[in-house]
Amino acid sequence: MKKYITTAIPYVNGAPHIGHAFEFVQADFIKRYYKDIAGEDVLLLSGADENALKNVRAAETAGEDVQRFVDKHAIEFHELAKKLNVIFDVFQKGSDKKHHFPASQELWTRCAQNGDIYQTVYEGLYCVGCELFYNKDELDENGECFEHPGKPLEMVKEENYYFRLSRYHQKIIDLISSDTIKVLPEERKHEVMAFLKQPLQDISISRTNERAKNWGVPVPEDDSQRMYVWFDALNIYQSGVGFGWNKTMYEKWWPADIHVIGKGITRFHAVYWPAFLLSAGLKLPKTIFVHGYFTVDGQKMSKTLGNVIDPMEIVKKFGTDALRFFFAREMPSTADGDFSFKRMEQLYNSELANELGNLVSRITTMAAIDGITITITQEMERFPLELSNLYVTYQFQKVVEYIWTAIRDLNKEINKIEPWNFEAKRREKYLTQWLIEIHKIGKYLIPIMPDTAKAIMGATKGRIDKVAPLFPRLSK
Ligand SMILES: [Zn+2]
Repeated sequence: MKKYITTAIPYVNGAPHIGHAFEFVQADFIKRYYKDIAGEDVLLLSGADENALKNVRAAETAGEDVQRFVDKHAIEFHELAKKLNVIFDVFQKGSDKKHHFPASQELWTRCAQNGDIYQTVYEGLYCVGCELFYNKDELDENGECFEHPGKPLEMVKEENYYFRLSRYHQKIIDLISSDTIKVLPEERKHEVMAFLKQPLQDISISRTNERAKNWGVPVPEDDSQRMYVWFDALNIYQSGVGFGWNKTMYEKWWPADIHVIGKGITRFHAVYWPAFLLSAGLKLPKTIFVHGYFTVDGQKMSKTLGNVIDPMEIVKKFGTDALRFFFAREMPSTADGDFSFKRMEQLYNSELANELGNLVSRITTMAAIDGITITITQEMERFPLELSNLYVTYQFQKVVEYIWTAIRDLNKEINKIEPWNFEAKRREKYLTQWLIEIHKIGKYLIPIMPDTAKAIMGATKGRIDKVAPLFPRLSK
C-alpha cells in the first residue's frame, strides 16, 4: 500500500513561524506511523507557493529580485523542517519551470478542453493579502477582509479567465456529504457544507501579465496572462509527483491520501481543488485533515503584538523531540492550541525529564550494574491495535495519553516494588520485564519522537549499559 501525504504549500513571503512547524510535524507523525510502524510506501510532500502577488510585493519591498527572494525564503522553510526532523520526500517549488509550469499548463489545458475556462471582464474589490476578490457583504464594517484588518482592499478591473466552478456545485456537495472526500474534523466538514448552501460563483484563475508583474505560470495559448494563485498553487500537490512530466511516478502516488492543512484554507481544498480535478478528469484526494491555529501566551500571534515565535528558538532551548512532544501533547489535532515557554518548560521537566527520562535512566543504570542482557523478539515489538487506531485517526493527544499512562504505571510499579533494596539475583526478573516494557514504549514513540524512540530502543536491548540522560536539565 502507498500513502501520499502533503502539508499545505506555504507562501514564502516571510520567515516560517510556529504554525508552520506544527503542520510539518503533524504531517510527519502521520508519515512516520505509516512508514515505520505500518510499513507502507510513503511520500511526504511540501513545497513553496511562490507565484503569489504577495511574494512579488514582498520582494519589491526588500529590494530583491523575485526569484532570489523566493529561493531564499523557500530554503528557510526547508531548513526548519530539517531541524524538526521532518524529511520532505519532495519539496516542490511553484517557480520551478521544469516540472511545475508544464504540470499546471496541463491542468489548465484539460479544464479548458472540458469547456470550463472562459474569458470575461471583472471588476471587484481585491485583497492582496488573501489574493481574493470579495463581495461587500463578506467584509467587516470598515470594508476590510476579516483576515487582514487595517489593509484596504483595492478596486481591480481586468479581463481574466474564469473557471466554471458553478458547474461542479452539486457534485462537490455529493462528494463531501458522502465522505468520498473526507473532511476532518466533522466541524470543518459542516463549515464546508454550510458554504455550499449558497450558490457557487465561478472564479478568476488568471491575471494580466501587467498585474502579475510577469511572474507566475503563463496561461497556455495566451501570452498576455498568468495563472492565478490557487489554480497553480494547489496543483503543486500533483506537479511534485510527476503530473505532466512523469506518468509512472504520477500513477504511483496520485491521488493524495491526506492533505494536512490549516483551517483558513479548507474551502480551497474541499471545494476549488476537487472541482479543478473533476474538470480535468483526474482522481480526487481522499482526506483533508484540518488543524487549528496557535495562540502564544493566550494571544493571537501577530507581528504587531511582537509575539511571533521562531520555532528554531524553541528547538535550540529544548531540543527537537521536546517540541515535537509538545505539539502532540498540548495541541489538539483539530482545534486551536496555545504555546508558551512556561508551559513548554513545565512539560519538559515533569513529563519528559522526570517521568520518561528518569524511568529509562534508573532502570538501565540498575541493569547495567547487574550485567543484564535483553533479547527482544518480534512478538515484543508488536504495536497495540488501540494505539494504531489513535494514530490513523490523527488523535495525537490521545497517543501521548496512552503512552504516558504506560510510563506512569511502570513508575508506580517500580516505586512499589523498590528493586534497589533487592540483591541482583532477585532483581533480574523485574528488570528484564521492565526493560522490555520500556523498549515497547520506545517503539510507541517512534512517530512522535523518533530520536528519543531510537535511543530508548537501543538502550533496552542486548547487554544493557548506562545511558546519557534523554532530557538533560535545562540551562538557565
Ligand atoms: Zn485578506
